[in-house]
Amino acid sequence: MFLHFRHISYGLFAAAAATFFPTWAGHAQARLNRPLVIAVDPGHGGRDPGAIGCHGAKEKIVTLAIAKDLARRIDLTPRMHAVLTRTGDYYVGLHQRVRIAQRAGAELFISIHADAGNPSYHGATVYSQSPADAPDVTQDQSEKLADGITRQLRRIEPVRRDRQADFVVLRSRRIPSVLVEAGFITNPEQERELTKRAFQRSVAAAIFGGIQRFLAGRLSRPSAVR
Ligand SMILES: [Zn+2]
Repeated sequence: MFLHFRHISYGLFAAAAATFFPTWAGHAQARLNRPLVIAVDPGHGGRDPGAIGCHGAKEKIVTLAIAKDLARRIDLTPRMHAVLTRTGDYYVGLHQRVRIAQRAGAELFISIHADAGNPSYHGATVYSQSPADAPDVTQDQSEKLADGITRQLRRIEPVRRDRQADFVVLRSRRIPSVLVEAGFITNPEQERELTKRAFQRSVAAAIFGGIQRFLAGRLSRPSAVR
């Protein structure tokens, strides 16, 4: 039963443990002090530019800017810590990205991309893990996190919510993962937006808002105090 306690429930656990099992209180407190690690994954990089807009904007540059802003917001939050799967313009393989997150002890994984398609397509897409890729608990958390991010992103642009993702980075069986296509870089208007600091910041803020809502939901779940 205690194996099912997640980081977020350790406040209550620590209080209960201190009362009933004083020897466990130390361990619970150690967990409580450990920050919640969130892996932030800027898509593409280096020799892999990702999608390219008609005015030459590269997906790899846009994703890094949004990811860095999101990581900064996470690091400014007490007891939260961001781990970027890349911090500059260099190539990192897809499996390597998942390994970086796992080694850092990440509890959530957010991959950031920009979409390509017909020039008339615009708006964001938020993908959660598919049932084939992750056990029920992980998939359920991925869905909730994706729903939270979708709600926040809809304040700034149209968002499509997709559950049929087939992305390597969403296949971690253990870490609830979400992939955000921040907009269509192949749409001239969105290409302009995606390269603007203000828009990049509002996308990062929306994703961060979704993460915060998700964590608040986890804290208030009745199962957390069992
Ligand atoms: Zn991409």
